Amino acid sequence: MKEITRKSLLYKTGVEYGDYTINHVLGCYHGCLYPCYAFLLAKRFGKVKSYEEWCEPAIVGNALTLLRKEIPKMKDRITSVQLCFTTDPFMLGYPEVIEMSIKIIDMLNKNDIPVVALTKGILPTKLEDYSKSNIYGITLISLDEDFRKIMEPNAASYSDRINSLRYLHEKGFNTWVSIEPYPTPNIIEQDIYKILDEINFVDKIIFGRLHYNSKVSQYKGYKEFYNELADIVVKYCIDNGIDYHIKNKTIS
Ligand code: SF4
Repeated sequence: MKEITRKSLLYKTGVEYGDYTINHVLGCYHGCLYPCYAFLLAKRFGKVKSYEEWCEPAIVGNALTLLRKEIPKMKDRITSVQLCFTTDPFMLGYPEVIEMSIKIIDMLNKNDIPVVALTKGILPTKLEDYSKSNIYGITLISLDEDFRKIMEPNAASYSDRINSLRYLHEKGFNTWVSIEPYPTPNIIEQDIYKILDEINFVDKIIFGRLHYNSKVSQYKGYKEFYNELADIVVKYCIDNGIDYHIKNKTIS
C-alpha cells in the first residue's frame, strides 16, 4: 500500500468524547458516502484530490518511530487514546493497517495507556490478548445490508461487525456502539429498536444525527425525528443499564 511520513502522530482531539487520538493512515478504503467528514476535510485541505484517492489509503510508515518518541513525553497527560477519528484502524482489505493498529495498541498498553477503538471493519480476535482496560466499538447505523453496500461500500457487513464485538464482550472487554450518523426515513425507513436489540449487550451507546447531507433537511420534521430518536435511545439505555451519550447538535 502507499506510504507517507508524518512529523507527529499523537494529539489531543477536539471531539467531544475523545481524549488523545492517533490517525496512522491517510484515507480509508471503506469509502463511506454519508458523506465521510474525514474525507471532506482531507479534500478541503488538499490532502487528497478525489474520492478515489481517499479510498486508496496511505499508511504512515514512521508511525511507530514517532510514537516511541512521543509517548514518554506525553503519557502523564493521557487518559486514553482513540483509534481513530479520521480513518479506520481495522480497515478491510489492508492487513498492513490492522497489523500496525495492533502494534500501536501494544505500545500504548505497555505504557499503561488504554485504547478506545472504533471500526466499521471487523475487530480482530487478537485484541483479546491486550489490556482489559481497552474499550472496543463498532459503528452501526442500520441492519440493512443493501443500504450498507450503498453507504459504506467497502466496510464489513453489519453481522460481521456485531459478531466481532460480541466476541470481545464475551471475553470480558468493555464494548460500545456508535449509532452515528443515523439517517432520516427519506434515506432509509427502519426501526431503531431492532438495531438496539442487536447490540444491547454493550456497555455504552453513542447516538448522533447525520450531517452534511442535503436529504436530511429535505425530510420534513427532521428535527422532531432526531429529538424523538434521541429520547428512545436514552430510555432504552436506562431500561437496559447501558451508558449513553447523545452527540452535540443531535437534539434541537
Ligand atoms: S470508515 Fe470512517 S473514515 Fe472510513 S470512510 Fe467510513 S466514515 Fe470515513
